[in-house]
Amino acid sequence: MIPVRGFENQTVAVLGLGRSGRATIAALIAGGASVLAWDDSQPARDTAEAEGIALRDLTRDGAFDGVSALIVSPGIPHLYPSPNPAIAQAYAAGIPVDNDIGLFFRSFGSADFVEFDTPPKVVAITGSNGKSTTSALLHHILTECGRPSQLAGNIGTGVLSIDPPQDAEVIVLELSSYQTELARALTPDVAVLTNLSPDHLDRHGGHGGYFAAKRRLFAEGGPDRAIIGIDEIEGQYLANQLSEGPADDRLISISVARKLAGQSWSVFARKGFLSEYRKGRQVGSIDLRAIAGLPGTHNHQNACAAYAAARSLGLGPRQIETALHSYPGLPHRSQLVAERDGVRFINDSKATNVDSAAKALQAFDRIRWICGGLQKEGGLDALLPHLPRVSKAYVIGREAEAFARQLPGVEAEVCTTMATAVAHAAREAEKGDTILLAPACASFDQYDNFEQRGADFLAEVERALGG
Ligand code: ADP
Repeated sequence: MIPVRGFENQTVAVLGLGRSGRATIAALIAGGASVLAWDDSQPARDTAEAEGIALRDLTRDGAFDGVSALIVSPGIPHLYPSPNPAIAQAYAAGIPVDNDIGLFFRSFGSADFVEFDTPPKVVAITGSNGKSTTSALLHHILTECGRPSQLAGNIGTGVLSIDPPQDAEVIVLELSSYQTELARALTPDVAVLTNLSPDHLDRHGGHGGYFAAKRRLFAEGGPDRAIIGIDEIEGQYLANQLSEGPADDRLISISVARKLAGQSWSVFARKGFLSEYRKGRQVGSIDLRAIAGLPGTHNHQNACAAYAAARSLGLGPRQIETALHSYPGLPHRSQLVAERDGVRFINDSKATNVDSAAKALQAFDRIRWICGGLQKEGGLDALLPHLPRVSKAYVIGREAEAFARQLPGVEAEVCTTMATAVAHAAREAEKGDTILLAPACASFDQYDNFEQRGADFLAEVERALGG
C-alpha cells in the first residue's frame, strides 16, 4: 500500500465505496487521516459500516464542515451530465475534489528513493482503445526483461494498493478519461496516448471535452517522454504541441496507418512489421505477424506503444522482441482460447461496441462470427466494410433476430444462446476457419458483464471440444 501523504490529522471525505473507494480509505488512514465516507447505494454503505468505516451523508448542507478534501471514485459523474449531489456540495463549499490517482502522484515519491541506484518510474497509459492491452503488454515486457514492475489503475490493483516500489521498479498505470479529468496531480515519467475515438461523450460534454480530459495527462503532467498515437488529428495536434521540432526526442510518435519518416523518434507498424526510427536511421524491426498474442492491426498499435515505452525505459529492441513472443494476451481481448484441427477459437467478449468488434473482424479471415447482445446507439455501419471476412454469423442475445437483419449479404443464423452459437459454429467449421466471439454489443441482456459472457463462451467451447 502507498500511504497517502499530506492529510495527517485531517479529515478527508470519500465518495464511492466500491473497490477503489475502499482501497483509498485504507491508504488515507495509513497516512494518518480520518475518513468520512458515503455512497448513494444503501447496500454499499451497509457493507462499509460493517467494516468499521465511518459514514456521513455528503449531500447534506454543512456536510463538508471540517473536511479537507473530497476523494471521488471514477464511476461517479463530477461534471457532465451533472455532478453527483455530494460533489456539487463540495464545489459549493470550496473543498478540493480529487481522486485516487491524484493522491497516488502526491504520495508516490518518498525519501527512500535517494537510497536507490535507479529511482522508480511511473508510466501512465491512456487512450480510447487498447489501454489494458498496452499496459499488460508493457508490464509483461518489463517482467520478462528482469525489471521489477507492477500493473495498476484501471487494470489490476488499485493505484494506492500497490506495494512500495523497489529499486528501478516501473509502475505501469492504466488511466481512463474519468481519472485523468479529475486528478489534481498527474506526473508520470512516461505518458502514452494509444488512440482517440468518440467515447463516454455524456460524461465529458462531447468529443472535445473527452480529448481535453485525456490531454491533461500530457499538459498538466509534463512527462519526460510522451508517446502519442498520431493516426487521429487529436494525436497529431498533441504531438505538435509537445515537441520543439523534429529532433526533439521527448516525443515518440506511433502509427499503424503510415510510415513515419524524418528525424523524429517514431515507431510504426506496416504490413505486420514494426519499425523504430531515430534521427533518420532505423534502429529496430520486428515481424509481428508471428506473435500469437497480438493479432490484428489494432494489436500492432498496442505493440508499438508498449515497445516505445519499453525503449524509453532503456530496454533493447531484441529483448523486447523476445518478450513480445511470450505475451499470453488478456482474457476476453482477441484471446486465443483453443485450437483444434486447424480451427481457432477467439474470445473477444470485450468488443462491446461496433468499433472494437470491427477491429477484431479485421484481424482474422474466414470468420464464424458470434455476435449480438444489447445493441448500442449508432447502428452497425462501421462493421459493414469487414463483413466480407465473415463466412457466417451466429447471432446471440434477446434481440438476435433484429441484429441478424442488419447484416446485409451475410448468412446469419439466429441462435439466441451462446450454447447454440458455439455448438453450431464448431460443427460447421472447417480447417482454416476462426470462430470469433466479438459481439459488438453490451452483454447485459443475458449476462452481468462481458467477463461472464467470455467465460460462458469458454465453457461452451470446452463442451464442444469434448473437454
Ligand atoms: P481498453 O482498456 O482501452 O478498453 P483493451 O485493451 O481492453 O482496451 O481492448 C478493448 C477492446 O478494444 C478489445 O476487445 C479490442 O477488440 C479492441 N482494441 C484493443 N486495442 C485496440 C486498439 N489499439 N485500437 C482499437 N481497438 C482496440
